[in-house]
This record gives sequence, structure tokens and C-alpha cells, in this order.
Amino acid sequence: MTPPRIVALARSAAPLSPLQAVAGTLWLAAGGADEDGAVKRAVDACWAAESGDDPYWDYLATRMQCDVCAERFKLENLALCPNCFRVGCYAHGRACACGHVMLG
Ligand SMILES: [Zn+2]
Ligand SMILES: [Zn+2]
Repeated sequence: MTPPRIVALARSAAPLSPLQAVAGTLWLAAGGADEDGAVKRAVDACWAAESGDDPYWDYLATRMQCDVCAERFKLENLALCPNCFRVGCYAHGRACACGHVMLG
């Protein structure tokens, strides 16, 4: 499988959105490839630019809509695709419509 888009985005040095930074964190936690450390650097830069003591955990507590069934959950209770950044609740399994595996 080709690497998910989060890897190319991080390597392009474009600033990540908080949602993309969560996807990058999940990718690294799942043992995803990051040979040159670009994903880690991009994720760290995103959270360093946000305010608050722990912007990562603050962001995980925000409520978001499942992209499949439109129910609302805290982001920490949703899975997130590191390729297309779709979020899905656990009722739908981990296979994303884009062909990648949702993480979280
Ligand atoms: Zn759902
Ligand atoms: Zn996807």
C-alpha cells in the first residue's frame, strides 16, 4: 500500500491542521513509516503553534461529526484516516472508503 497522504503533506513542509496533526500522531503510534522524521517534526510544529497546556489532548476532547453516520462524538472516540482525514465512529469498522485503514 502506498503511504497515506499525511506522510507527503508532512514532507512538503505545509503546516498541518490540528486534525492532520492528530492523524500524524496516530500514524506514528501505529508504527507507520517516517524515515526522515518529517511527520514527527510537522506534528510537533503544529502543537507548538497552538495555545494551551496540552493542545493535543484539548483537541481530542472536541466533538466532531462522524463522516459516515453524522453522529457526534469526542474526537478521541473516533477513528481517523491518515490518508483522506475522514473520521468515523467505531460502528463502521476501520476500512476507509479511500482504501486506507482508519487509526485511533
Ligand atoms: Zn458513525
Ligand atoms: Zn481515507
